[in-house]
Amino acid sequence: MLSTFKTAVTPPSDLDQPALWFLFQGYRLLVSTADEGLQIPLSISADNLGLHPVREQYLGYWDDNGQRIHCFCGEIEKDTLPPSGYSWESLRPLYPLLDERLFWLAGVAIQIVDWDRTHQYCGRCGQATVNHKKDRAKECPQCGLVSFPRLDPAIIVRVQKRSPGGSKILLARAKRFPTPMFSVLAGFVEPGETLEECVEREIGEEVGITVHNIQYFGSQPWPFPHSLMVAFTADYDGGELSVDSTELAEAGWFSPDALPNIPPPPSIANRLITSWARENYMGDSVEPSQ
Ligand SMILES: [Zn+2]
Repeated sequence: MLSTFKTAVTPPSDLDQPALWFLFQGYRLLVSTADEGLQIPLSISADNLGLHPVREQYLGYWDDNGQRIHCFCGEIEKDTLPPSGYSWESLRPLYPLLDERLFWLAGVAIQIVDWDRTHQYCGRCGQATVNHKKDRAKECPQCGLVSFPRLDPAIIVRVQKRSPGGSKILLARAKRFPTPMFSVLAGFVEPGETLEECVEREIGEEVGITVHNIQYFGSQPWPFPHSLMVAFTADYDGGELSVDSTELAEAGWFSPDALPNIPPPPSIANRLITSWARENYMGDSVEPSQ
């Protein structure tokens, strides 16, 4: 049974047991497609898989009943064919095909690989960077600039309205969604802004209403590509819906028994919407299933 994952940057000097290798070609992950289900390759080295990462990073280890399972990530050059029995797969659809903890670590790995790839040179003086000895960071040997993995905080907010006919939830359809889907509002935090100010600003900009009673709901790392989603709930305060047509196609108030197509698990958007639907469903038939 895998226990808590321990993050580390220095690999063991004597790796004598197979390690888990999270190898990416672009944003696609190498997985085994054997009969027993999708697996992350377990190998003493990437070379043993017949692959030669252009860069690799040690991620840390799981303690498996006293035995450490070390984990690495790396980038494989494009056009490299996968080894026999393996394939390159987009990460997001692998949920829930992959063990949930491995899916989470694959999300960490893709962010580290992406950061490793995009921080090869100092952003201040252009010198080639080196890995920091102790921290997950890149250091410039010429000017000393240290660059950590990029993390973009974003808020995501469920706005609810109580009305005589029952509660309603505000959902919007973004133009960028590849399939018609309605979700709660979200947006990136700007410099100098508190999370609550960001919630108020995003709602004001996107649908033109005001809210109150902003409450923390939870958070979720979202490695597509490097966000940290901080979720809130808020109550409608005033104003008429006025949709910002640069980002949204439409927005509206929905009842719990008439929800449109919403984002699938494991997104925190799904948790925000389904938890509200369960709390507010008044019907006498089965609960909303999603
Ligand atoms: Zn520099």
